[in-house]
Amino acid sequence: TMALSMTACGGGGASDGGEAADGGEAAEGAAKIGVSMPTQSLQRWNQDGTNMKEQLEAAGYTVDLQYAGDNDIPTQVSQIENMIAGGCDALVIAAIDGSALTEALKGASENNIPVISYDRLIMNSDAVSYYATFDNYKVGQMQGEYIRDALDLDNAAGPFNIELTTGAPDDNNVNFFFGGAMDVLQPYIDSGKLVVPSGQTEKAQCATANWSTEEAQKRFENIITSVGYGPDGVKLDAVLCSNDSTSYGVQNALQAAGYTADNMPIITGQDCDKPNVKNLVSGLQSMSVFKDTRTLADATVKMVDAIVKGTEPEINDTETYDNGTGIIPSYLCDPVIVTKDNYEEILIDSGYYTAEDVA
Ligand code: BGC
Repeated sequence: TMALSMTACGGGGASDGGEAADGGEAAEGAAKIGVSMPTQSLQRWNQDGTNMKEQLEAAGYTVDLQYAGDNDIPTQVSQIENMIAGGCDALVIAAIDGSALTEALKGASENNIPVISYDRLIMNSDAVSYYATFDNYKVGQMQGEYIRDALDLDNAAGPFNIELTTGAPDDNNVNFFFGGAMDVLQPYIDSGKLVVPSGQTEKAQCATANWSTEEAQKRFENIITSVGYGPDGVKLDAVLCSNDSTSYGVQNALQAAGYTADNMPIITGQDCDKPNVKNLVSGLQSMSVFKDTRTLADATVKMVDAIVKGTEPEINDTETYDNGTGIIPSYLCDPVIVTKDNYEEILIDSGYYTAEDVA
């Protein structure tokens, strides 16, 4: 937890070079960057936090990195308030609930502290200056297209049975992941080539609170039971899952119902979490979408650096992400599809994982 120093941020904001206010490890004169991450319980956020801290320190900044317990919203709010009171010169925030930070960020606006929304868009706050993320719509599109191509929906007679799973309703990314995938799949549902036997096709019905593996598993166990899916029951051809943590829960439920790598439906994911990569290799999961946290950290650090130095950060999207106060200028990184055919090249040869990590 953070030592609260009342050394003022001074209202000087980004460009005053900071004051190495507190914390002690600061190089003198180094600006201090607050980095707020949602949880340590999911692999990627640990990597995001570590990469951000390392890369910011390498660029000469002092870093106040905080994780909000396990997706605890009040903890995130108070950590951000402390960063503001403690004299941070800029904030980088991956929100748990995109709409829960409006009050806390008023302090950032009042003190001219720039805020970068990291990975997830912070909603309803005009304190947000920029957004650094991956192309979230493309992530969903890749998942939908993977299912379309794997089932050869344009040629095969069908119909095929599919079920849909997405993530936390308070995460704006869900609109893009689910929306991007459904823009590909919906026409086939409309034509009857794809059928959703559970009847659960609305985003709200497919949501998973906190992206929890256990919640996704429970919901899917209910679907398996109510539809009668099973290796000897109703055939399940594909499951759209918006990310790896929910996909893992679905895979657990399917395995408990008797499915194995030999008869698993097509299942999508996102993040290339280690357990999921293992399942890609063993055949339990079909694909994941890799979002290299090093790339996002790198882009974000460049953004912070430009803002703190009072120059214009590079952006490549000015039309997609409206947070309710207007469009937030964004930098979108490129997601990459990973399957068992290319995981070595993308994940291991690139140094992201060692072979042992995913063996
Ligand atoms: C991120 C995903 C992640 C999910 C759960 C989303 O906002 O973009 O990469 O899987 O949150 O943490």
